[in-house]
Amino acid sequence: MLRSPEESRKRATPEREPLVRGSLVRLRRRCGKPNCHCHDGQPHLTWALSCSLKGKTKMLCLRERDLPPVRRALDRYRRAAADLEGKALRGIQILAQQIRADKRKE
Ligand SMILES: [Zn+2]
Repeated sequence: MLRSPEESRKRATPEREPLVRGSLVRLRRRCGKPNCHCHDGQPHLTWALSCSLKGKTKMLCLRERDLPPVRRALDRYRRAAADLEGKALRGIQILAQQIRADKRKE
């Protein structure tokens, strides 16, 4: 569901420590089977990964066994993103210091 046709043809090679961006959401859904309990009772509760791609929100339904690895992958993404943000801010700081120092010399 998250892949474009070109991307599914390429097939992503599984990584040892994958990163996943997005958030876990609970979906309530009715499966459509006429004799299922969800037809007129409690809907099914499923976990899904909600992720915005090119301005659109994509949903990927997850199986119960996907949850632990997806949680770890989301966590790795958060840590990597925070690390990148920190490096970028330090880069700006250093640039500003250089500009100030150069001005004093001129
Ligand atoms: Zn059902």
